[in-house]
Amino acid sequence: MAASRKRWDSIYANTNPFSLPQHIASGVKSAARARTNGPGAERLRCLWVYVTARGGSGSSQPPLAADEWLSILDESAALGSECVVISTGAGLDAHPEILAMCSWAQETHGMLVGLHVYKKPLTKAETAKLTTLDQPHFALFVDSEILSDMPDAEDMGIRVYQADCDGRELTVGDCTFPESMTCVGPSGEMFACGYVYGSKKYARGHCLERELSAVMSDEAIPHMIPRGDPGTKRRCNGCPPLMQRMLENNAHDVRPAKSNGNGKKQA
Ligand code: SF4
Repeated sequence: MAASRKRWDSIYANTNPFSLPQHIASGVKSAARARTNGPGAERLRCLWVYVTARGGSGSSQPPLAADEWLSILDESAALGSECVVISTGAGLDAHPEILAMCSWAQETHGMLVGLHVYKKPLTKAETAKLTTLDQPHFALFVDSEILSDMPDAEDMGIRVYQADCDGRELTVGDCTFPESMTCVGPSGEMFACGYVYGSKKYARGHCLERELSAVMSDEAIPHMIPRGDPGTKRRCNGCPPLMQRMLENNAHDVRPAKSNGNGKKQA
């Protein structure tokens, strides 16, 4: 399990939960560097987190606690991860851990953070909470079905992108993103990616029982989604490498135009 099992109370001793003590941040960074990039180290470029329960994962375990999520972020950063996408299908208020995770990923690890919103649009008040984050390193990815229900985010200076995409159409050949990415569900169960979430074939064990480095180097589990692999009920919406690609294509565009041809929100 992750070396740094931090406790929530010790991290958030201040009344402002996002005022992270600098010495803790530097301590974690040092620990991360010490664990990272040694000979043969397995690379993890992106982490994908589902905080809302999804059917079909087969998990009967309780949801991870906030401090456990922060430890997963630490472990991911220690392997070199520079990007995390958090997917929520229940908004923000139902998942107070999300803001803490976003803040921790940005402030402690300098990670690019995406929030993928599906099923339930964020309210105006929930959206306003996101303005406390480092906006140049943050973006909202929203499923098309609910995009028009979130008209306030752009006016608050938050980048908003339409999340819908099919990675197998956008990539050439088989999808190899899971070679450097893992997807963690609300109870800690891991899968290759969101597209195959819940599929036993692509299951990677539990994040509290397996080191991420061991998962990424385990040749007994598939790290590639064959182009012709049919029959999953999921989509690629929110997939971190694809979302990152959207961001890179609009790298200098903190406040997007209302319309473009690259997945951005249409007027
Ligand atoms: S979600 Fe789609 S694009 Fe992302 S790794 Fe899975 S198959 Fe590939």
